[in-house]
Amino acid sequence: MTRVQSYFANILRWFDSEAGSDHLDTDSRSFNVIRTLPFIALHLACLLAFVTGVSTFAIVFAIGFFFVRMFAITAFYHRYFSHKTFKTNRFWQFVFACLGASAAQRGPLWWAAHHRHHHQHSDDPEDLHSPQQNGFWWSHVGWFTCDAGFAMDERRVRDWLKYPELKFINRYDALVPAVAVALIYGLGEALAVMAPGLGTNGFQLVVWGFFISTVALFHATVCINSLAHVWGSRRFETDDDSRNNFWLALITLGEGWHNNHHRWPQSARQGFRWYEIDITYYLLWLMEKAGIIRELNPLPQHVHEEALRLDRNRRNRP
Ligand SMILES: [Zn+2]
Ligand SMILES: [Zn+2]
Repeated sequence: MTRVQSYFANILRWFDSEAGSDHLDTDSRSFNVIRTLPFIALHLACLLAFVTGVSTFAIVFAIGFFFVRMFAITAFYHRYFSHKTFKTNRFWQFVFACLGASAAQRGPLWWAAHHRHHHQHSDDPEDLHSPQQNGFWWSHVGWFTCDAGFAMDERRVRDWLKYPELKFINRYDALVPAVAVALIYGLGEALAVMAPGLGTNGFQLVVWGFFISTVALFHATVCINSLAHVWGSRRFETDDDSRNNFWLALITLGEGWHNNHHRWPQSARQGFRWYEIDITYYLLWLMEKAGIIRELNPLPQHVHEEALRLDRNRRNRP
């Protein structure tokens, strides 16, 4: 592929992540500036808040949409598509795949493929987002914007390739975010007419409810790659440098118990002790009671006992 062809292929990949005759180099860690432009634009678009102004409704919507999508990312992109810690039917699988895709963190299969690679190589030289190997900024955002980060190794997600609807939203990964923007704009315009007292409109609601909410959601999510391998305590002597961190667990709805998660990734629950708040797990538990999901993988008794023993030893240490 010539330089010009590669330039245009990267622009096409803004819309169709598989565009172009070749596949991206899955090993190259060079920054792909063209491909990253929409991601940079998303950040700059937050500054439009100075033009649109703000309203209480826009802030509440931004926070609400942040947490709804954080749940879709942690419960489905992570605990379901990457680790299969529970089961659901094809309808709910697609609904939550779409909700996760609206977070603009690429498709569910791309996300799962990279995450499975992370678990296999955690903090090894091969790990694409290890702060130990490549520093904080690389593990936070560098990996996401390089050729290897854009590429997806299909062999890691063979179990999901039989679902054409998942392959579709994974390939056209800008589609769901674009639909979300259109719906939010429509809602804001409708409210401007029907409830002018709220002081919002389409443009303002898109800036706060999508641009700002999505950028905050991205950075909160990737803190698990960067900070949760640096900042916090280590209950288990896992082969990596994963940490448990209460604050990260709060903003990510339970993902901050990352050392627990690396000890036993098959568990749907990541807070192993009663006081380790894991809101995603509580919601999954409710969804199981409501019949939306089933067969939540429990934490095995021996791992729970190991956690109790290690905590007891730590307390008794002089
Ligand atoms: Zn990790
Ligand atoms: Zn994981």
